[in-house]
Amino acid sequence: MEIDLADTIFTKILNKEIPADIVHEDEHCIAFRDINPQAPVHLLIIPRRAIASIGSMQDADVSLVGHLFRVARDLARSNGIAEGGYRLIINNGENAGQTVAHLHVHLMGGRSFNWPPG
Ligand code: AMP
Repeated sequence: MEIDLADTIFTKILNKEIPADIVHEDEHCIAFRDINPQAPVHLLIIPRRAIASIGSMQDADVSLVGHLFRVARDLARSNGIAEGGYRLIINNGENAGQTVAHLHVHLMGGRSFNWPPG
């Protein structure tokens, strides 16, 4: 079944239909604070164009996905977590725990993380 991307909560955040603590906006993406933070800094970086997941990205999306990581790098610096280290996570699909079908990069930092993850 085709996922209705227009229905995700992130589309509503992009359209400013519901509030979010937006920390970055540009032509291609926005970033905002996760509503249920798992680290002192926990941001979500999402493309404006609705791509459901890494699994459904097209080859033509390579530069857009690269852009999300460049923004993550810059937000890590501006949020003071670049030196201490941080984690970038993309959950893809059910087993990984993806709950919102709109591609998002989690940027988490400000504490130590375990490896392997749970
Ligand atoms: P994932 O489990 O990788 O799909 O991550 C989805 C993330 O979106 C979770 O960390 C949620 O806490 C977060 N989230 C869900 N709804 C909102 C919202 N309205 N504003 C900010 N973050 C949200």
